Amino acid sequence: MWRNATPFQVDKLWSQVVHYYIDKKKMSKEEANKIAAAIVKKEIEKNTCQNIACRHLKSKHIAHLRQCLVDTCPCSEFMKIKKIRINHE
Ligand SMILES: [Zn+2]
Ligand SMILES: [Zn+2]
Repeated sequence: MWRNATPFQVDKLWSQVVHYYIDKKKMSKEEANKIAAAIVKKEIEKNTCQNIACRHLKSKHIAHLRQCLVDTCPCSEFMKIKKIRINHE
């Protein structure tokens, strides 16, 4: 399902991350898979429009037309994830 919808290959990214943590960080397969799941989820989220009426991928958004290419979608601009700022007192 993700394979055709995302701008990167989930399987490929997943296995690269898993190998990295197993080979270089000497983690167990279980731990590495857990980290890979979190990273892939974050990458997908990063490439998904945060407009709740949209939620389409970044690749569907054409900047100079200022619109999302999905039919019936009212979105006009790709909305990024807002960085959460920690306020220091
Ligand atoms: Zn959209
Ligand atoms: Zn959008």
